Amino acid sequence: MTGYQVLARRWRPQRFEDLVGQDVVVRTLRNALANKQIAHAYLFSGLRGVGKTTVARLLAKALNCQHGPIPEPCGECVPCQEIARGSSLDVLEMDAASNRGIDDVRELREAVKNLPIRDRYRVVILDEAHQLTKDAFAALLKILEEPPPHVIFILASTEKERFPATILSRCLQVDFRPIPVDLVVTRLAHVAKSEGLELTYGAAQLIARATEGSLRDALSLLDRVRAFAGETVGENEVADVIGLPPFETVVALWRALEGGDVPAALALVRSEEQSGRDPAGLYEQLVRLLHVLLLLATDPSVPAPLPASHRPMLVESAARLGPALLIRLLGLALEGKDLIAGADTPGVAVAAAVGRLALWPRLRRVEALLGGEPISPTPVSASTPTASVVTPDAPVIATPAGRLVAVLEQMGAHLLAGRVGAVREVRVDGDTLVLRCGGLPLATQKSLRDASEQLTAAARQAGLASKVQVDENDSPAQKHDQDLRARVESDEGVKLVLEVFGGRLESVEEKP
Ligand SMILES: [Zn+2]
Repeated sequence: MTGYQVLARRWRPQRFEDLVGQDVVVRTLRNALANKQIAHAYLFSGLRGVGKTTVARLLAKALNCQHGPIPEPCGECVPCQEIARGSSLDVLEMDAASNRGIDDVRELREAVKNLPIRDRYRVVILDEAHQLTKDAFAALLKILEEPPPHVIFILASTEKERFPATILSRCLQVDFRPIPVDLVVTRLAHVAKSEGLELTYGAAQLIARATEGSLRDALSLLDRVRAFAGETVGENEVADVIGLPPFETVVALWRALEGGDVPAALALVRSEEQSGRDPAGLYEQLVRLLHVLLLLATDPSVPAPLPASHRPMLVESAARLGPALLIRLLGLALEGKDLIAGADTPGVAVAAAVGRLALWPRLRRVEALLGGEPISPTPVSASTPTASVVTPDAPVIATPAGRLVAVLEQMGAHLLAGRVGAVREVRVDGDTLVLRCGGLPLATQKSLRDASEQLTAAARQAGLASKVQVDENDSPAQKHDQDLRARVESDEGVKLVLEVFGGRLESVEEKP
């Protein structure tokens, strides 16, 4: 049995032009090579798996190629081939994570003292170079201060900020970017095809996203999924390996949300938790599905990472909801992510976030409101006393004013009941029932104040409060502000927005 060479290794680029997603880096280095501007020290920094060591070896080849230094090494000559195999005696690769002590510094010194054995340069590739000890950095600095002409250092690091400034200033700094998802997907598709592997677009997307711009990690993940699934790799196989729910579960959750079915949505979250997976993974997938729906709403033909069997249903969903609503849903879903990230119990946080999303049919009403459509029930006019707003499901008796009036009627205090009925606002504040009399005739206000004993008795009997406070007439400015606030607070549209998005009224101002 021959050893299986992992994909990341087998598909490691051997030419600058095969490198994926590092165009700026490649152009910079090739230009420098073409102009024979060769630095004695390079610092390659960037996330793991984005090509730093690969480019370091390519640079070593370009420097030591028999035809070099050259912008594109031939790959054929002995130095090129030896460097590719890792057997060149003039290219020293060290991992500073495990070789950071004083002996290693000595090795460094030796490496730079000796002339190249055969090739043009002694190239030292120091991986994870930020892990060098203080002594090692000091030794390195000494070399970099007076670099021997035959030595080239290539430092690679994921943590550039950990280098002493003295080292940084003596290196040509080359920053590697994370590789965009689309490029990783394209590369995965290319590798899969050449390997005779059937890989769906959705599966490639899932791998690319899970590995966050690291091509090496993406290829390693493809290896793992292949070992698990064989030669046909779809979304569900990838999801299984990385511990995400199958796509069917994500779609089922979306269908529950789409139908505003809170119990069904929460049941799915619960069963996800019971399956032993992190429900946050399901939520993450839901957020991505929402993003895809948004894309589909703007362009139904957009290539989306969806299994063909679900696509028509989701395209239809997207068209029905439309981009504006989906943008709001996505925004809401992203807020939920923050909630989940900071939660001690992710299951509970996911349930809360999903529950809030399931309120979207109300969101649609907000949408209508923001679009300028009137909202039911009838808009509250300036003169409508809050206490007498009557909706079919909330009979007047259920409000504090209603209950107080009912008790006063029972007590036979019909006149007082009538006055209370005219009060603009009756509200319970702690153990006090507040009657705000602004706007009523002064005589009525006085009558109410005079009847405070009877009102207190009624309030107690109605189970509302143990004290009653009859507010004086407000100053005109205060009264105006309070009126305005009351109007805004009782507005159905505002109530809806607060209910769906959370939050509270900070301040209320009138448009000039
Ligand atoms: Zn060559």
